[in-house]
Amino acid sequence: MRDGDVVVIGGGYAGVRLAKRLDATARVTLVDRKEIFFHRIASLRAGVRPEWTVTPFIPYDRLLRNGRVVLGKAVRVDTVERQVVLATGERLPYDVVVIATGADYPEPARFLGTTTEEAVKAFAAHQQSIAAAEHVLVVGGGPSGVELSAEIRLARPDARVTLAHSGPALLGNAGCEKASRKTQAWLEDHGVEVRLDSFMSPGHEFGAYRDARGGVIEADLSFWATGTTPNTLWLRLAGHGDWLNPSGHIKVDRSLRVEGRLDVFAVGDVNDATELKITPAALAQADLAAWNIRTYLNSAGRHRREPRLYRPVHRTPVIVPFGPADGLTMLPVPGGETAVLGGRTSVLAKAKTLMTPYMRRQLGYTAS
Ligand SMILES: Cc1cc2nc3c(=O)[nH]c(=O)nc-3n(C[C@H](O)[C@H](O)[C@H](O)COP(=O)(O)OP(=O)(O)OC[C@H]3O[C@@H](n4cnc5c(N)ncnc54)[C@H](O)[C@@H]3O)c2cc1C
Repeated sequence: MRDGDVVVIGGGYAGVRLAKRLDATARVTLVDRKEIFFHRIASLRAGVRPEWTVTPFIPYDRLLRNGRVVLGKAVRVDTVERQVVLATGERLPYDVVVIATGADYPEPARFLGTTTEEAVKAFAAHQQSIAAAEHVLVVGGGPSGVELSAEIRLARPDARVTLAHSGPALLGNAGCEKASRKTQAWLEDHGVEVRLDSFMSPGHEFGAYRDARGGVIEADLSFWATGTTPNTLWLRLAGHGDWLNPSGHIKVDRSLRVEGRLDVFAVGDVNDATELKITPAALAQADLAAWNIRTYLNSAGRHRREPRLYRPVHRTPVIVPFGPADGLTMLPVPGGETAVLGGRTSVLAKAKTLMTPYMRRQLGYTAS
């Protein structure tokens, strides 16, 4: 018997995991504004290499045995009627609602439109402009900017590629001194121009990009890997601005509930539970929220259980691919140090497949 209606808003890493976890015990409805799962971790290579174009797209049709997946954009949570309102006007009743709307990233790590066809077109357009460019500028030297620069360099050995980073060392907070040095050495050995301490102003005039000190970089194409914006504007517009902190993330308590609300949870990149906006954190939060939702839905029974409390991790392995055949892994070790592992580990753990087989299996598909 399945108890309670659970509406999960957002079918990204966290939403998919949570919906699957509750599928056997609750009536689950997963809502997403696009028709297919987007494996963002594979998106940078997909934006560069035509043979990877469709890799990030995995259908939702094998995810749930009992529950359903609805295509639609949530525009409001009606906490009085306990209904999620979609842009079409459709209303989805809930006993528990989970907000898992993630964050928006600059292109190419972005799903444009709502259909696979639209997103494929956007990736193909990026691939074509990269193939035709003489000079590509990547702004932002964190893990994504580094990965993208490496992908572009390997796809276009004949083009000029510049990576501009506002800080004094690549990888920023995600890195350590040794990893930054090795990353910079790899890029420079492969002919990528690395410009540190270069804070680039947004926009350009006829291909002239300026940094804060007046330096100019002339490029015919640019990509910005400079940060993320939580997908919560819809909540603000619907009058739930009090659920958000100043950066627009949803404020949650340690049981991952929106503060003061027993039946509204928020998981993944969209909440303020951790600074570390990475997939393992999103998955761990989905697991914990699934447990707490089951506990809440069964709370009328005699065996009442306490909610579990989320403890954010502050240090986690970070793997930065340099294309499919090289990369670097930063592994926290006891004592606060970070071990830096090279190509072999990084290729096996991530760089070659970008964890696509793992995500395909999560959605009920075979690895390839
Ligand atoms: C280029 C890049 C590479 C990355 N690589 C890694 C990596 O290697 N390892 C790692 O751990 N992390 C990586 N990350 C971070 C990782 O992608 C995020 O932590 C992860 O996506 C968070 O999952 P989520 O489910 O919270 O959000 P998302 O995956 O963003 O999913 C949110 C979902 O909500 C939907 N949605 C949004 N608004 C609405 C609405 N109003 N109505 C309905 N649906 C809505 C969206 O369509 C989307 O499907 C990377 C990020 C980028 C940009």
